Amino acid sequence: MTGDSQPTLLVTGAGRGIGAATARLAAARGYAVCVNYLSDEAAARSVVDGIKGAGGNALAVRADISYETEVVKLFDTAERALGPLRGLVNNAGILSQQMCLADMEVERLERVFAVNVIGALVCAREAVRRMAITRGGAGGGIVNVSSAAARLGGAGEYVDYAASKGAMDTLTIGLAKEVAAEGIRVNAVRPGLIHTDIHASGGEAGRVQRLQGQVPMQRGGLPEEVAQAILWLLSEDASYCTGSLVDVAGGR
Ligand code: NAP
Repeated sequence: MTGDSQPTLLVTGAGRGIGAATARLAAARGYAVCVNYLSDEAAARSVVDGIKGAGGNALAVRADISYETEVVKLFDTAERALGPLRGLVNNAGILSQQMCLADMEVERLERVFAVNVIGALVCAREAVRRMAITRGGAGGGIVNVSSAAARLGGAGEYVDYAASKGAMDTLTIGLAKEVAAEGIRVNAVRPGLIHTDIHASGGEAGRVQRLQGQVPMQRGGLPEEVAQAILWLLSEDASYCTGSLVDVAGGR
């Protein structure tokens, strides 16, 4: 949390899963939250209604983060409605049907990288343009939602997704150095097996249950447990952390 009375935080992909849990916790900590979503308007509205019902401030904004024009409009809309940006959670991410690289079509690779890498880069760019001190901003924080897949590799399931998360780790390290003197800290969380809908989009809704025996803590994680780490990285409690990759993976 910053010194502003109600700083603005933009969370991409916040209608469901880790993004929704992050938006709710951020609002409870005093942020005005822009809840970005792609197609599930009802889910995003329900997150916003929940936040408002608890006395917080939030706004749902549809935008496909893989399109630059939509990203710029998303950030403009958020700032116009909620005030100057003080934080970004680069959370929106996708994976596709589990398969080996040998069977993947290039269209799939392009879509995964368009959302997980180009989308994250353009969102980070917009956040820096708005928060950098030398550009008239007041500083802030960026947290990238990477994945344990960046170090595990995703073999046999989605090496494309894992590679996109490796790119996100490198973005975190490089951008953190680039904007450290601009009052902006850039960090990442690397969740492990978390109970959300994303596994169904890979064709295996029960993936966490299948693999949780390999987790030293013997269970999958909750979106709220990832949100706690994200909010800590955004907070002044993490004031000397930048370029950090925080594993939230039960020891896996
Ligand atoms: P999820 O439940 O599938 O939710 C994904 C969210 O992203 C949804 O709100 C979706 O919007 C949004 N989204 C997808 N594509 C988008 C786009 N092009 N533009 C804007 N929004 C988009 O996923 P999750 O499990 O919470 O994952 C969140 C992040 O955590 C991802 O980056 C993922 O890679 C990462 N992660 C997850 C796990 C895990 O085990 N769950 C582990 C490691 C890392 P709609 O609701 O409108 O469809």
